[in-house]
Amino acid sequence: MIVVMKQQASEAEVKSVADHITRVGLKPSISSGSERIVIGILGKIYPELQDELEVLSGVVEVIKVSRPFKLSSREFHPADTVVKVGNVAVGGKDLAVMAGPCSVESEEQVVATAKAVKAAGANIFRGGAFKPRSSPYSFRGLGVEGLKYLAAAREATGLPIITEVLAEKDVEAVYKYADVLQVGARNMQNFTLLDEMGKLDKPVMLKRGLSATIEEWLLAAEYILAGGNPRVILCERGIRTYETYTRNTLDLSAIPVIKKISHLPIVADPSHGTGKWYLVGPMASAAVAAGAHGIMIEVHPTPDTAKSDGAQSLTFANFATVMEQVNAIRAVVSAPKSRAKAASK
Ligand code: PEP
Ligand code: MN
Repeated sequence: MIVVMKQQASEAEVKSVADHITRVGLKPSISSGSERIVIGILGKIYPELQDELEVLSGVVEVIKVSRPFKLSSREFHPADTVVKVGNVAVGGKDLAVMAGPCSVESEEQVVATAKAVKAAGANIFRGGAFKPRSSPYSFRGLGVEGLKYLAAAREATGLPIITEVLAEKDVEAVYKYADVLQVGARNMQNFTLLDEMGKLDKPVMLKRGLSATIEEWLLAAEYILAGGNPRVILCERGIRTYETYTRNTLDLSAIPVIKKISHLPIVADPSHGTGKWYLVGPMASAAVAAGAHGIMIEVHPTPDTAKSDGAQSLTFANFATVMEQVNAIRAVVSAPKSRAKAASK
């Protein structure tokens, strides 16, 4: 349930609605947009509550939200959420381009890759120091040493860093070095980790779980939002289907769906979404055409020798080519309608 307040509602009116909600054992969550103030109600709603709130001063209407996710819904927050990462407005007009190796392997590797992807147009650097691996015998990352190398890459290029936090015990270390903390697909429903993300004052990128529905994904985001951290970015990274030719099936339709039902920024990861380097370019372009606010792409100096995900990693040269294609698509998608029409003549 959400309470829409009058545009000119006073602080005292907003407070009295919030107090009522608290008094009946529920939690108010106030969102002040430029157009209106909305108060979301978290907890188990009872039927009489709507009538109780509707009569309070300053209230325009009380809307029942049928969706189980509230804070992540468009109803609660009609305007797009824009998450600032360095100079990039993720969810706004900018295209966030997060690029870098799957795993951090050495300082030289990340510094060289950060310089190359920056030159080609990336504006956020990625690299995993704590790696989720299907087999315990695979390379599981350099840990804190890897975080330090990422900091060196930021120092060398000025690019903000996104890196995965795998476990609650690592939150403090990852928070210290990262500009954006990534919660990976396998941890999308690690609810205690999500609770920790809710306590942070840095952006969190939440990847879609391997077999998660869009609703489950938004409910996972809800944990972070309900915990008090509004800086949430979603990332579609492909889901499990019966298809085996590709590693996952990149659900491009999730991009416009998320934009319709949620206000959170949505990024696409065609690297994990396809598993094959030569599919990354077409799917990156397709994601941008579908309206993604950003893309995440794995890039390695020598994909053949990568310690993880070499098959889906781009060389520096291939990444530069993909960026040219993506920029061309972006120019068409973001062109004013009249120009787009003229271009299609
Ligand atoms: C990653 O981005 O490094 C990663 C492991 O991705 P995912 O969680 O989507 O598998
Ligand atoms: Mn990877």
